[in-house]
Amino acid sequence: MVLAELGGSIARALARMSNATVVDEKVLADCLNEICRALLQADVRFDTVRDVKANINRIVNLDALAAGTNKRRIIQQAVVDELRRMLDPGKPSFTPSKGKPNVVMFVGLQGSGKTTTCTKYADYHRRKGFNPALVCADTFRAGAFDQLKQNATKAKIPFYGSYTESDPVKIAVEGVDMFMKEKYDLIIVDTSGRHKQEAALFEEMRQVSEATKPDLVIFVMDGSIGQAAFDQAQAFKQSASVGAVIVTKMDGHAKGGGALSAVAATKSPVIFIGTGEHIPDFEVFEVNPFVSRLLGMGDLSGLVNKIQEFMPDNQQMQIMDKLGEGTFTLRLLYEMFQNLQRIGPLGQLVSMIPGFSGQFIEKGNEKEGQAKIKRYMTMMDSMTDAELDGTDPKLMNQSRINRIARGSGRRVEEVVHMLDEYKRIAKVWKKLPVLNNNRRSDMNRD
Ligand code: GDP
Repeated sequence: MVLAELGGSIARALARMSNATVVDEKVLADCLNEICRALLQADVRFDTVRDVKANINRIVNLDALAAGTNKRRIIQQAVVDELRRMLDPGKPSFTPSKGKPNVVMFVGLQGSGKTTTCTKYADYHRRKGFNPALVCADTFRAGAFDQLKQNATKAKIPFYGSYTESDPVKIAVEGVDMFMKEKYDLIIVDTSGRHKQEAALFEEMRQVSEATKPDLVIFVMDGSIGQAAFDQAQAFKQSASVGAVIVTKMDGHAKGGGALSAVAATKSPVIFIGTGEHIPDFEVFEVNPFVSRLLGMGDLSGLVNKIQEFMPDNQQMQIMDKLGEGTFTLRLLYEMFQNLQRIGPLGQLVSMIPGFSGQFIEKGNEKEGQAKIKRYMTMMDSMTDAELDGTDPKLMNQSRINRIARGSGRRVEEVVHMLDEYKRIAKVWKKLPVLNNNRRSDMNRD
């Protein structure tokens, strides 16, 4: 089960509970059973699922709740909190800081996506103002240096490696020394992998680590391995003093729920997830926004991060102010579309916007999504200022709709459909309790 399906199943279970005429023990039990089934199908460990259920049952004591309390809201919040707890190892990881050299070493099994992820990590930090460089200390796999070189060249990141030297420790030390002298502040060392966890791999990791004294060791793990993630993460953690984890291949058919919850169970913080083969397919992993997105509630803080990464400073404040205002006008939707086109890739961003996730654009159908946005913007271009800024739905009477259709060369039904979509999204924005509570603090994040 892919993560979107897991989120969809949980959201549907919550919606069914919310729509019940009376919320009683049976409704709660059905809802929890459905959620547990979805978690198990996503490969979350049985023990973890059992704990999630027991904790929610403990928090939501229907008998003890006073009459008039909003049981639906309490159950929803308990489910959201438990999902967050399940994914949260409760321990932040080391983060590189500017103005001093940071050495970060990558470890993982062969094929996990380690080399690709090194470049993604370098590229992400360069956008944050770091000066990164890559060292290829993988002498085990033929072609490893060529691959790193190719990725690094594409991303315009300096690299170091050797076709002839077979000692990974020597290469790692030479590369780190060279880039330190050249004042690079984020030196990323890619190490060898093996097909399975074996003594030779761990010994090599230990030697490279001892010689380069990394500030952080990142373990890269393939997200599609589901339940096996726990053992693998634990083995690496014990052998290489792993400080953080990156879970890759969370696109595709990864049973990502299993991998993420398993890693959290080893008390290792997941810091990023890989969502595709290309360099921008890389997302910061933070538990709270991740759960919000999983349940289709959007992720304002992720959106704000993306805006900060890709947008010039002078435009950032404007859009963030608008996002924080809370009145969702057609003009705001128009501006969101404009920004979406500018900061892509569309797939990632769409799931971060409340009301867009899973509905506005189908995953994997981004071309149609782009075309839809263009169509909507053409229709909005034919609206007056009062129409774009208005919050009164009655303003949009039939003659106005006809005029907009004529002006934009689209059919009347298309305008009506666009307005319906707008109303649906605006309604989601109004109703989001979790996001509304966090909205101001999200806006103030660094
Ligand atoms: P390494 O052996 O651990 O260094 O792994 P590579 O970096 O060579 O990656 C192995 C394969 O996984 C390559 O085909 C990558 O393009 C692919 N890959 C890496 N990360 C991701 C990801 O997040 N999503 C998908 N779909 N593929 C990925």
